[in-house]
Amino acid sequence: MAKIAINLTTASIQKEEVIVGIDLGTTNSLVAYMHPEDHVPIAINDLGLGTIVPSVVHFSSAGEVLVGDAAKEYLLTDPANTIYSVKRLLGKSYQDLGNHKDSFGYKVIDDNSEGLVKIRVQDKFYSPIELSAEILKELRARAEHALKTPVNRAVITVPAYFNDSQRQATRDAGKLAGLEVLRIVNEPTAASLAYGIGLDPNEEKTIAVYDLGGGTFDISILKIHQGIFEVLSTHGDTYLGGDDMDREILEFWTRQNRLLADLVALDPNAAQALRLKAEEAKKALSQQEKFKAELNGIELKLDRHTFDTLITPIIDRTMASCQMALKDAGLQPEQMDTVIMVGGSTRVPLVYQTVSDFFGKPAHNDLNPDEVVSLGAAIQADVLAGNRKDILLLDVTPLTLGIETMGGLMDSIIPRNSKIPTKAGRQYTTSVDGQVNMKISVYQGERDLVKENRKLAEFDLRGIPAMPAGFPKVDVNFILNADGILKVEAVELRSGVRQEVEVKPQYGLTDEQVEQMLMDSITHAREDVSTRMVIEARTTAEQMLYQVERFVEKNGEHLSPEEIELTRQNVQRLREVLPTGDKDTILKAVDVLEEQTSPFAERVMQISIKKAMTGKKIE
Ligand code: AMP
Repeated sequence: MAKIAINLTTASIQKEEVIVGIDLGTTNSLVAYMHPEDHVPIAINDLGLGTIVPSVVHFSSAGEVLVGDAAKEYLLTDPANTIYSVKRLLGKSYQDLGNHKDSFGYKVIDDNSEGLVKIRVQDKFYSPIELSAEILKELRARAEHALKTPVNRAVITVPAYFNDSQRQATRDAGKLAGLEVLRIVNEPTAASLAYGIGLDPNEEKTIAVYDLGGGTFDISILKIHQGIFEVLSTHGDTYLGGDDMDREILEFWTRQNRLLADLVALDPNAAQALRLKAEEAKKALSQQEKFKAELNGIELKLDRHTFDTLITPIIDRTMASCQMALKDAGLQPEQMDTVIMVGGSTRVPLVYQTVSDFFGKPAHNDLNPDEVVSLGAAIQADVLAGNRKDILLLDVTPLTLGIETMGGLMDSIIPRNSKIPTKAGRQYTTSVDGQVNMKISVYQGERDLVKENRKLAEFDLRGIPAMPAGFPKVDVNFILNADGILKVEAVELRSGVRQEVEVKPQYGLTDEQVEQMLMDSITHAREDVSTRMVIEARTTAEQMLYQVERFVEKNGEHLSPEEIELTRQNVQRLREVLPTGDKDTILKAVDVLEEQTSPFAERVMQISIKKAMTGKKIE
């Protein structure tokens, strides 16, 4: 039965607010809700546009924002202003991107800091949080339109391996889209719920969730007992999926036909058209044995057997991941009670067959593999709405959490794959006589040296009474809540001095900042978001000015007078725009200065290497 509520101010009857479940995917996103009468989760198909909303955002020159299929059309014609795969950037710094820095069709900005990446579109700079918020706003609008009711609350899913920073960024994106995010749920957990696993409190099962999408692969091993979900282990490859199958087909066709190879090498439109044909062939071969089409009069043929041979290495890579995940969980393939298929690419028959063979049982694929995560999120939303009290969710932390100790070493406090919520602590002491402050630096990662891990926070425990080294007893406790948000507290036991922080990703948004932005978004949305960004832009600019000026001072002899003059002009320009408070103008000036001066560092380095080599004989 649908619940009703009476609005006392207007004396009107309102339908009970719906809490939606959202699958915010790398390639595609979906929103689902629990049908109040039928009690089944349904993926929302507003205006017959389909349930799948491509996670693509396009900005027109007039400032209009398009999301979904409408935006996807611009991927080819206007790539610089069309943002895809933003999920890959969520909660990440430029350094985190490693070798994938240049693999985006749009501009990802390196501002030389450890801060989160920004994306430049025309002359504006966006954070991945803002871009994800655009996708969420679209999903919210579609849900409101289709259900004819306000939608203010949601459950959003994330990959099981997402770290704190990425989970927090997802929450922030939700808030920025005007949604109260009731829970962040792991995608494999949601998929299991969609298959009704976990709804019976007496059930005990071990489950493998195999998720092969367009561009990512994840395998998760879950355990369900007494209505509690536990993620035993996860593994995967963030750059492996159906797109790679399309590429294999494309390359097969171009290997076969020189004319075709020349055509795609010369004409990007033809290359894109061929890529689409390859995807069409792949999808067709999920149903039939042979595919035939043509492009510019060239015949394109593919049969199932050849396709299977082409994609075997891709599938093998996913199976290697499955083996690793099982090893981490200490289990054998046959010990899985249930195997669940998620993601559009699991429709490929060879994928289904290989996975079923590996685990020794037929995998579940009755539900639409594109929708299954969003359906499970809708079930979780229903649980949180108080409609089901029989399910509790328990996840694991994907990476070790610890603090820095002497010599820059990582001291692990909560090991990876620990069940959350959890609490753990350790005792430390001072290393110097009379030491009254202690710096606590919190890191996440598996390496021994903290510099190779990700720093989450840093704070000082101040006011420790002066004592000889080794005397104070400092307890450091980590408290990780069900959403994967970490609270760190430090207390000196002899004096009772204490300090605590809630760990937010570096340069991320605090809850207060997000709340503030949300309230202001009602009246002047963009303006308020940009206040914070102006501050960040100014900091970036000031760091840049400091670096460039020091560089020119020290290494001016290696620069030409023209270069020095141009640098001076660009520095001056940046100084002029700093007070304007316009983040895009500031970041643009930073960009200009950076682009102009970045070759200098390398040149100077080469000169010094040469100098160092002079006079040295190579034996
Ligand atoms: P997802 O990221 O889960 O939305 O999955 C999208 C991927 O699934 C894309 O690579 C699609 O080409 C692929 N896909 C969708 N339908 C099919 C199909 N019938 N057969 C094979 N692959 C498919």
